[in-house]
Amino acid sequence: MDKQLLLLISLQELDILRKDRIKEEEVGFEMDNIKKMEEARASIVSQLKDHIYRKYTRLTKRYGSAVVPVVNNICQGCYLLLPTQMISPEQQNKSVITCPNCGRILYWID
Ligand SMILES: [Zn+2]
Repeated sequence: MDKQLLLLISLQELDILRKDRIKEEEVGFEMDNIKKMEEARASIVSQLKDHIYRKYTRLTKRYGSAVVPVVNNICQGCYLLLPTQMISPEQQNKSVITCPNCGRILYWID
C-alpha cells in the first residue's frame, strides 16, 4: 500500500481514538495518554505531504471521516458506485485517490 495512504489511515484511527479519550477526560476519567497520542500524531503529520494533510483536514471538518474504504466498488462515504474503468485493480491503494463524487480519500480492502 502507498505510504501516504497508510499514514492517512493511521492518522484517522488516531484522531478517532483521541476524540474518545478527550471525551472521557471531560467526564472525569483519569487519562494520561493524550500527550503520547499528540506525539504520535505529530510524527505522522510530519511524514505526510502538505497538500495531502490539508486535504485530510478539510475532509475531516466537512464529513467527520476523510478516509473511507471501498467495498464492491462502492465508496463507503457516499455510496457511489465507482466506475471500474476509473481505477483498475493495479492502481488501487497505489496512490491517494479521491472519490469523484464526495471527494473523500479512498482505500481498498481485500
Ligand atoms: Zn464518495
